[in-house]
Amino acid sequence: MATRDRAVHENVPGSFFVDDTCIDCDTCRQVAPLTFIDADGHSAVQVQPEDPTALRAAARAVLCCPTNSIGSAHPDVVKLAQGDLPEQITDGVWYCGWTSRHSFGASSYLVRAGDGDLWMVDAPRWAPSLVAAIERLGGLAGIFLTHRDDVADAPRYAERFHAPLVIHARDADAAPTAARVITGDDAVTLAPGLTIIPVPGHTAGSQALLSDRGVLFSGDHLWWSRRIGALNASREVCWHSWEEQTASMRRLRDLSFDRLLPGHGGRAYLPDGGMRQGLDALIARMQRPMVES
Ligand code: SF4
Repeated sequence: MATRDRAVHENVPGSFFVDDTCIDCDTCRQVAPLTFIDADGHSAVQVQPEDPTALRAAARAVLCCPTNSIGSAHPDVVKLAQGDLPEQITDGVWYCGWTSRHSFGASSYLVRAGDGDLWMVDAPRWAPSLVAAIERLGGLAGIFLTHRDDVADAPRYAERFHAPLVIHARDADAAPTAARVITGDDAVTLAPGLTIIPVPGHTAGSQALLSDRGVLFSGDHLWWSRRIGALNASREVCWHSWEEQTASMRRLRDLSFDRLLPGHGGRAYLPDGGMRQGLDALIARMQRPMVES
């Protein structure tokens, strides 16, 4: 529970505030960008939401914050906002919200496979209203984990929905109850319309998931940087091998997708060849001795 007496000084006065327990995960700035800003190491309220749309987005940010660092004088709106999650991104794809401190606020998603089954991609924290929403969508066929850092409450969702966990062997110690362990570096079919692409680099067992809906779930391998206005990856958060991550990035060039949904960092929609152009520019930067983060 956020407390007013620990509010960061950059907040503008009003009904929403961020306190000093913020871990700077960026979630609120993505969910409600009109309200929250980066205040150098943490978030803060830059403009109090006034119109209903901005107010509802700020309320969703309260729910999505992994550390309960956002306070609000609108508990009624926050409660109503539970009904907004999962939030549909495009046909057959949803953002789960309800991020977990154990994955540093990583984004998780739901995606429909070609056979109609629903898959979770990485996991949020346990949230009964999300569980109920998933039930209404037909339950989970499985949970795909992009890498070891973004497991969060996946085992609990797996148990609740009798859904197998899927992880790569090189990160498998992070999910000891996984029912399916991917090995090697070849692409593997997860379900109709869903293909696993191993992308070692950020971690040894990182893997992306390609949906034939034109979506790539990239975990922490690749994201959109709002700061530089480009696709990005960073040595600063490369835990395994920058050389392998660069090689893995090259593997993505010829895949067919125009929407990028990462674990951390911004989403991207780059149609008409824009994704490939963006990847080429990023790969060129990655091959230099240093790359901007
Ligand atoms: S979502 Fe919460 S922890 Fe993450 S940046 Fe915003 S206030 Fe901080």
